[in-house]
Amino acid sequence: MEPRDLSSHAVYRAGRGIEEVARELGLDPDDLVKLSSNENPFGASPKAADAVREHADRVASYPKTSHTDLTAKIADRHGVADEQIWLTPSGDTALDYLARAFIDPGQRVLVPTPGFAYYPMSARYHHGEVDEYRMEKADDFAQTPETVLDAYDGHRIVYVTSPHNPTGSEMALDDVRTVAEETDDQTLVVYDEAYIHFTDSPSAVDMVEERDDVAVVRTFSKAYGLAGMRLGYAVTPEAWADAYARVNTPFSVTELTCRAGLAALDDDEHVEKTVETAKWAREYMHENLDARTWESGGNFVLVEVGDASAVADAAQRRGVIVRDCSSFGLPECIRITCGTREQTRRAVETVNEVLAEVSA
Ligand SMILES: *Cc1c(COP(=O)(O)O)cnc(C)c1O
Repeated sequence: MEPRDLSSHAVYRAGRGIEEVARELGLDPDDLVKLSSNENPFGASPKAADAVREHADRVASYPKTSHTDLTAKIADRHGVADEQIWLTPSGDTALDYLARAFIDPGQRVLVPTPGFAYYPMSARYHHGEVDEYRMEKADDFAQTPETVLDAYDGHRIVYVTSPHNPTGSEMALDDVRTVAEETDDQTLVVYDEAYIHFTDSPSAVDMVEERDDVAVVRTFSKAYGLAGMRLGYAVTPEAWADAYARVNTPFSVTELTCRAGLAALDDDEHVEKTVETAKWAREYMHENLDARTWESGGNFVLVEVGDASAVADAAQRRGVIVRDCSSFGLPECIRITCGTREQTRRAVETVNEVLAEVSA
């Protein structure tokens, strides 16, 4: 026998891992700078790492109290009821849970292009069909209500990313509200705030309180430095608590993940250092890269380099791993994650060298 027809399902192309690249190039991983996956350059919150060690011997039991406690803590932070927090093993899984709860087979969803590859993947896993709305380079990837609404045709879910990956552009909350208002009652607006910590723009969580057709997605992978733990959540209208209970895979968020999340939420110092450095790095890249860059609200900058694949390969041979944005539909751009000051300076120097060589 065979799996069902998966030909319309794309494979997720992740940024390359540091050990993978080191092995391939015969280099010491410590000599490489990896700025390709928007991870936290300072690593995990130290408090979270301690919590993982401290609770290591608890993994024989299913997670129960830790899940309840983490849900309550997140809800408290947002000033919402515990039932409104759908805790999930990663932001990607929060997208899956929403798709599980909302998509009937054959229903259509609307995703941004360029955009995050997992929206269409998740929708297709859940037997949805995918249409795209375009963000234009000529408009600096502006996200206006029209960007979305011009392509809207009664879709079941509309995905909005702000700050947007990989462009860094943002959609103002009033514009998100307009999208939610102008679309059908039965259209869910999924507002992905994976990079919210890195912008001064407000969160859409208040809009979840105001309306019944908006859900906010969050992750612990970026600002908290817990990409390897896999932890995220959705903030949803209170009326959907029953849906979460029905779509949740039992005990999907692990004991150690919950403990790490609880500790990370108390580590303001780590988040502050991370955000401050990312803001510095964005400015540094805008000012010093010999290439076109775009304003970014995230912990990364999009850079126009011509042949992204060639530039990313050449930078990698010099020990700096950046993201070739071909898989995002931008074969002329790379995305550079904000590193520490030292990493960011090295990345800029390396990319500038590569660009000079290419144009020579
Ligand atoms: C990183 C990211 C996520 C979630 O990442 P997880 O590691 O799965 O939590 C969601 N949306 C966007 C746009 C992202 O860049």
